[in-house]
Amino acid sequence: MKASAFAYARATSVANALELLGMHGEKAKVLSGGQSLLAAMNLRLIAPELVVDIGDLAELRGVVVKGDVLAIGALTRHADLLRSPEIAAHAPLLKDAVAHVAHPAIRNRGTIGGSLAQADPASELPACMLTLGATIIARGSAGERRIAADEFFAGIYETVLTPHELLVAIELPLVPKGSTHFFQEFARRHGDYALVGLAAQAAIGDGRFTDLRLGFFAVGDRPLLARSADKLVDVAITPAVLAEAACALGDELDPMEDQQATPAMRRHLAKVLLTRCVSSLLARSDLAVGASA
Ligand code: FAD
Repeated sequence: MKASAFAYARATSVANALELLGMHGEKAKVLSGGQSLLAAMNLRLIAPELVVDIGDLAELRGVVVKGDVLAIGALTRHADLLRSPEIAAHAPLLKDAVAHVAHPAIRNRGTIGGSLAQADPASELPACMLTLGATIIARGSAGERRIAADEFFAGIYETVLTPHELLVAIELPLVPKGSTHFFQEFARRHGDYALVGLAAQAAIGDGRFTDLRLGFFAVGDRPLLARSADKLVDVAITPAVLAEAACALGDELDPMEDQQATPAMRRHLAKVLLTRCVSSLLARSDLAVGASA
């Protein structure tokens, strides 16, 4: 199928993009990498009257360390995240996660801002944002808004961005020295959207978690930072403790039914990932403790 007829504007600056969005509101759509937007337009799931292409705005691209945060421009492509030495050094979880996003051709065009604004609950990057405690920066005509990642995602393909706002950047706290991470997902084929996935970041001391953040995806209408992780912090991990945490996790999830999996299957897979994550992180704990010394 082909998209309905639409007007196209290539924004010359952030101010120009905001002006266009201000004038056209819900009738306009921002175009970043186009990897989700154009598919939705071609399937006629959406029919914007105006597409505002921000692809030329170089100021929205790139990764830099600014004090104690990593600032990532919204237009930074998935492929750039994979290659970035700053991401590898300060947010290695994100590097592992991006390798699971689609295929090279899509990673060469798709952007982190587009992925977060798209808010697909089965996407890898939104869950990483929760796990890493990201701040998402939106700009509108009235100025900038800084939104905590756990308040940004509002449902399937829904965020708290208004039609007049542009997602301009993401800030991630630099991961503390000695912390460690885990990323795994179940998908039918590598590069497919996940059936269920887990992006985790942890600090470990004396064989115990001193901090554990578990960001699950494809387990509900938005990514979830699991509260059940608290049951695993500052305790010796025994099979009973792990079973209790897995049970609490099952209660927290609200998975959806689709052609790929039932809610029961998604709950089961999430618990499998929890178990794998805990044993994998603890097996690496000597390394983590050593690195923090
Ligand atoms: P676009 O398609 O340009 O935009 C997506 C949406 O976000 C649109 O509504 C647009 O208006 C809005 N938007 C974009 N940028 C901004 C901004 N700066 N401010 C405000 N709104 C904005 N993704 C995954 O996470 N995991 C996968 O496994 C995966 N597999 C894929 C497989 C295929 C075959 C395809 C085609 C895509 C897949 N994707 C997957 C999606 C891909 O990662 C997209 O790149 C990403 O979801 C959207 O990024 P984009 O830059 O292309 O955004």
